[in-house]
Amino acid sequence: MTIDLAGSTALVTGGNRGIGLAAVRALAEAGAAVTFTARNSQAIETARSALGEQLDARGVVCDVTDQAGMTRIVEEGFDILINNAGVISPIGRICETSIDDWAHNIQVNLISAYHVATLAIDKMLPRGGGTIINLSSGAAHAPMEGWSAYCAGKAGLAMVTRCIHEELGDRGIRVFGFKPGVVDTGMQASIRASGINVVSKLRREDLASVDEPAHAMVWLCTSAADGRVGQELDIRDQAFRRECGLPATG
Ligand code: NDP
Repeated sequence: MTIDLAGSTALVTGGNRGIGLAAVRALAEAGAAVTFTARNSQAIETARSALGEQLDARGVVCDVTDQAGMTRIVEEGFDILINNAGVISPIGRICETSIDDWAHNIQVNLISAYHVATLAIDKMLPRGGGTIINLSSGAAHAPMEGWSAYCAGKAGLAMVTRCIHEELGDRGIRVFGFKPGVVDTGMQASIRASGINVVSKLRREDLASVDEPAHAMVWLCTSAADGRVGQELDIRDQAFRRECGLPATG
């Protein structure tokens, strides 16, 4: 399935590695002009050399919790926002985590994602709309031992997705929650190292590649996905896989 996003601009938060980097690559390969954020210039250099010379992808240094910095980045306006930056930590049982660590998780996964979405929407509305993809998780909908902050933050973000759709779906804002599956990234390495719940017991070789979620997210940016707007989508849903051109899984 060839997807053409030529003429579109996209912003990917936390685009220097993992699912974010794969999304940067897939969007740029589809012809979008991509901007991605990373927390330091070394991370941008590493990502840029992984992407190669040909792709139109520009890295900018900014922590997603830096409200003024993110405001400056989004000022130019984007057609597509991938709200990808996220953290799993603190991993620990609910009475064993510090409130500061817990609050930082919510700050990154929920409050910053909400903030960047609002900034993007302000610029999208006068242009007639745009697409926002909020990275969701099975943990948004089911409690996981040791992940109370992550579960609460992602559950909150799933509701933000619904609120955006409720308020702005009829004004051209195409918003999706997207569950990428259990994907082989640094986040899963941290989870394996913790040993705390069933996900930590999964073998690395059984995890999914970053390429399938990246493809699915690019597909969500096209009008072919209009029937899915406002939904929380799971890459493991076979009907969804068929629609976006991914092979069936067992
Ligand atoms: P990684 O840990 O591999 O990458 C996370 C990215 O987010 C990195 O680029 C990281 O930057 C960035 N980031 C973290 N905190 C901040 C911050 N404060 N400001 C800016 N950037 C930040 O995670 P994944 O690629 O696995 O996850 C990407 C998204 O997908 C997350 O939202 C995650 O919750 C979600 N997800 C992942 C799943 C999986 O199985 N991997 C499953 C379900 C959802 P840095 O390099 O500086 O740390």
